[in-house]
Amino acid sequence: MSYVNDQLNELIRKNPNQPEFIQAASVVLKSLEPVVESNPKYQKAGILERITEPDRQIMFRVAWTDDAGRVQVNRGYRVQFNNAIGPYKGGLRFHPSVNLSIIKFLGFEQVFKNSLTGLPIGGGKGGSDFDPKGKSDREIMAFCQSFMTELYRHIGPDVDVPAGDIGVGGREIGYLYGQYKRITNHYEGVLTGKGIPYGGSLARTEATGYGLLYFLEAMLKANGKSLEGKTVVISGAGNVAIYACEKAQQLGAKVVTLCDSNGWIYDPDGIDLAAVKEIKEVRRARIREYVNDHPHAEYHEGHGVWSVPCDIALPCATQNELGLEDVKELVKNGCFAVAEGANMPTTIEAEKYLQENGVLYAPGKASNAGGVAVSALEMSQNSQRLSWTFEEVDNKLKQIMNGIFNNVSSAAKEYGMPNNYVAGANIAGFLKVADAMVSQGIV
Ligand code: GLU
Repeated sequence: MSYVNDQLNELIRKNPNQPEFIQAASVVLKSLEPVVESNPKYQKAGILERITEPDRQIMFRVAWTDDAGRVQVNRGYRVQFNNAIGPYKGGLRFHPSVNLSIIKFLGFEQVFKNSLTGLPIGGGKGGSDFDPKGKSDREIMAFCQSFMTELYRHIGPDVDVPAGDIGVGGREIGYLYGQYKRITNHYEGVLTGKGIPYGGSLARTEATGYGLLYFLEAMLKANGKSLEGKTVVISGAGNVAIYACEKAQQLGAKVVTLCDSNGWIYDPDGIDLAAVKEIKEVRRARIREYVNDHPHAEYHEGHGVWSVPCDIALPCATQNELGLEDVKELVKNGCFAVAEGANMPTTIEAEKYLQENGVLYAPGKASNAGGVAVSALEMSQNSQRLSWTFEEVDNKLKQIMNGIFNNVSSAAKEYGMPNNYVAGANIAGFLKVADAMVSQGIV
């Protein structure tokens, strides 16, 4: 039995009913086989046992009152996964699907992603099964205040710095920050994704989507291809999808789809992003409204963007949204690159199919790291009590994404798997954290 196989069996035994966490961790462990085989120091220090077990997992009750005066109770989570290379860092997700397995998979991915940015941030994640959809502003505020009333004691600018994820954007971060400040009386960079007037960083809103496109550009360039004139299919209609669409358009591609949890739009003329921003960011409405004033566009209920012929597919919605049947369709239609804006959007079978069929495939922990990278830049600006210009932050983001691509691609080559960016990202992300853990002793 190899060290990796032993640890895979232990992982499955110790985490029953956590399929998403097992999925994320097993993909990483399998990629690490050549690294741990050739470096016995990692087994000696029990690195795989320790890296798959969070430092701590906090679960708490969040009680709040809805507009009808009824008491509501949700469950809150913060999983502090690993702080070997910096304070815990990662978003909060508010979505009815949230459970411990999902928060643990996200926290685990965050450890490697944050390491890949090259910045000093550890990995964590949190959230709640609260559903912000259809709630009034007052209900959102009541929920956020109650959530922070427990969370504040576990976080701090040098301890753990949460941010947004699905269901948590500028509005929620504002309410959470206000409550943190009210309880502690500390004006400090304890959350990122803040509004610009109170310590937020320019380009943080755009960072995940823009970063995805910078990574994609680097990957295409290394393979003698470019974005110019290409047809791109994007899923999602949140922050990541919107700014991925914006940058793809700026780089000369034509984006023809977006979707939300109800259905998807196809616009053969190319998505009119100003209209999408008005629907999603201003009115917080459903994507189906797009077709009301775009006569060539179509709206379809359900899941379906992957059936639209494209050159490049960018899953920017949620985990496991891209399955085996979807990728078969993509490959059949000539798609040659898939880059993940969401966290673990591709199932294990779909990922295998893409790689076997020679599709260039960028895993989210590398290609969506731009969001958390700019969060780390927000932390730096807060510590310095300075704020950098949009161009400064955007240039740093571009450099970071190019750096991640080079690092991932060299690690893949070094271990004899050129173009396997999954293995490259897992190995490069792992090495920095594992070496820090070895140096810091058995803790
Ligand atoms: N939720 C984002 C992610 O998945 C951003 C986290 C952050 O900015 O801390 O990386």
